[in-house]
Amino acid sequence: MKEALKTILEIQDLDMKMLRLVRVKKERLKEIEQIEALRKELHQQTTEKENEITDLNKQTLSFEHKIQDIAIKMKKLEGQQGSIKEVKEFNAITQEMTALERERITTEQKMSDLVDKRVAAEELLNKIKETLQSSEINSLALENEIKNSIKVINEEGSSLKKQRDTLAKTANGEVLQIYERLLRNKKDRVIVPIENRTCSGCHIVLTAQHENIVRKGDNLVFCEHCSRIHYWQPEEVVTETHTAPTKRRRRRVASA
Ligand SMILES: [Zn+2]
Repeated sequence: MKEALKTILEIQDLDMKMLRLVRVKKERLKEIEQIEALRKELHQQTTEKENEITDLNKQTLSFEHKIQDIAIKMKKLEGQQGSIKEVKEFNAITQEMTALERERITTEQKMSDLVDKRVAAEELLNKIKETLQSSEINSLALENEIKNSIKVINEEGSSLKKQRDTLAKTANGEVLQIYERLLRNKKDRVIVPIENRTCSGCHIVLTAQHENIVRKGDNLVFCEHCSRIHYWQPEEVVTETHTAPTKRRRRRVASA
């Protein structure tokens, strides 16, 4: 069983590297997604602002037409007033002209508000465009960097897989199957050493009897708390499994 576990431990080391690669790749892909989302958002904002400006321009134009109409009407009324003899009629036209004048002022005020709005919208649009431009330049570099690192990850991954496939051929099929099932559940090391009579997977203290069975190494022994497989780690093996995650780096050599 000791020999069988040795191969599986090597496989486990490769699998841990593989899991780490998968995690890194996922994170990097997420970064790309975020960059794309930001760009999409900025493009959308640009379109919205452009539509807003078009709309404001249309409204301004319609007010301009209205003011022109008022001017034409005014001129007409002025002409009429010149040829009128009756005071009553004259006054009526004057009233009409006053109303028109009031309308002109209101319309001009509205138009000036629109112009202010448009200026503000245009300023905002320019800012959005600037942000978009600089973010496109920055993100292009970042995206390339990420794509390259993903390429490296993929290459590393397929080389790890090759090594694993080779090892798997020589491994004890039954133990490998059990190991793989545990790995699928835990996504972490599932064959772990006993350290200071403690499971180094779940850190729960084990019985002396349990430790003795593991030391004999005749059978597969599972942690009764976390179901991981235990093994006894003689000193010379320590260096081999040093690629463990950070929390295991503090591991001391188990003393017999
Ligand atoms: Zn455990």
